[in-house]
Amino acid sequence: MKEPIGTTGLILNEPLLWEKGSPGRMGMSIPASDVPDAEIDSELVGDGPDFPDLGELDVVRHYTRLSTWNFGVDTGMYPLGSCTMKYNPKTNERQAALPGFANAHPLLPPELSQGALKLYSQLQQYLAEVTGFPAVSLQPAAGSHGELTGMMIFHAYHLSQGKPRTKVLIPDTAHGTNPASAALCGYKSIPVKSNAQGVLDPADIAAVMDEDTAGIMVTNPNTLGLFEDHIGEVADIVHNKGGLVYGDGANMNAIMGIVNVGCTGVDVLHLNLHKSFSTPHGGGGPGSGPVCVTERLERFLPVPRVVEQDGQYTLSDDFPDSIGKIHAFYGNFGILVRAYSYIRSLGADLRKVSQYAVLNANYIKESLKDTFHLPYDRPCMHECVFNDAKQETFSVTTLDIAKRLIDNGVHPPTIYFPLVVPGALMIEPTESECKEDIDRFIDTLKAIAAEAREKPDALHAAPVNTKVKRLDETLAARKPCLRG
Ligand SMILES: *Cc1c(COP(=O)(O)O)cnc(C)c1O
Repeated sequence: MKEPIGTTGLILNEPLLWEKGSPGRMGMSIPASDVPDAEIDSELVGDGPDFPDLGELDVVRHYTRLSTWNFGVDTGMYPLGSCTMKYNPKTNERQAALPGFANAHPLLPPELSQGALKLYSQLQQYLAEVTGFPAVSLQPAAGSHGELTGMMIFHAYHLSQGKPRTKVLIPDTAHGTNPASAALCGYKSIPVKSNAQGVLDPADIAAVMDEDTAGIMVTNPNTLGLFEDHIGEVADIVHNKGGLVYGDGANMNAIMGIVNVGCTGVDVLHLNLHKSFSTPHGGGGPGSGPVCVTERLERFLPVPRVVEQDGQYTLSDDFPDSIGKIHAFYGNFGILVRAYSYIRSLGADLRKVSQYAVLNANYIKESLKDTFHLPYDRPCMHECVFNDAKQETFSVTTLDIAKRLIDNGVHPPTIYFPLVVPGALMIEPTESECKEDIDRFIDTLKAIAAEAREKPDALHAAPVNTKVKRLDETLAARKPCLRG
């Protein structure tokens, strides 16, 4: 095996800026004052803030070194299942930074913002085309915010039918934000188990769906990386009882340009532009979670909405049935520019993104299924889920495997999620990894499995190549030590 990346070279011990400062050192030269000195009332300002005295180079080196401690998609493989940590082409960053976009003030009147409004309008059309829905709002700022918007639309719809309902069905493979969004909207979550194939069984839905249930939230492909192949039947059962179907589209990376989600019976769908559409994520935002809806739900979309008339664009609040405003202005603009640029630069090749993402995940699944236990042995979509059942006999756990990957320069995949797979190891390589890197990842995991058999203690000690070794995770959370 080749030398792992990210584990050689200088690892600098970085002191705090306060430990580096030296009294009187300055980061800039201030021109001589041409006004007389004045006394400062020390009672008002006290001793002043405790800033360290540093030169410019001290500060530049400090932050540049710290930035090299951060692992990201730009430094190495980051196969984080359920999160689509893929490479974001730099051209999309460049377009978002164009002065006309980056400096556009959100309070400018529509007549001075025609370019931005046109971009909103066109992006809505592109996302409508990709998903198969007639109407889109770009306002929500995250996937979970899209879910909340969707639940508010469910509520507004049922109110308009004369009977607000109280429950929402949530499959056991759902992301935790699904029940949270339903609860924020006042709905009680009713859990539904997935079947032995890892997907929803229409009979289980029929057993719990009633006329007090507002609808169901379905993630498709689901968080086991499996396509919900009964989605049409499930939607029919829910619709026949007057309910609605929410589609969690966070896993859109597997089906872009391939599945027309609008045709599968979904009524409201959110997308995570910061997963599939070229905005880097992982640091907690900002994000963007547009919602796409069917024609009968369009009137409930948040306001303002972009309206075009004779080639002129305005933002209109004139939609009396709207659920109202759910974000400042019209969403997180920079992210929308990136998504627009991404879709424009790929065109019809967007479908290839999904084809490669699915191919890569299946390649990993097939290459590793003799090495790690594969609870659902069937073709997967963009991610595959293994667990540590085969390593259990050597007292090696998923956590040990994940930590050992760090020693090998790979960010660990998502672990212990989804909850339906005990000890889950959820791998999403995405379309952006090349075959050589995927093969190296597979070889690394095979070598770790061999270590588990031959010298499990090495795994219990991992990571050893990092600056910070194995942490007591409880203590680290309770008493964080933030010194380098
Ligand atoms: C990421 C994710 C979400 C939540 O999206 P955020 O933008 O993080 O709020 C919801 N569902 C699934 C399946 C996800 O992977």
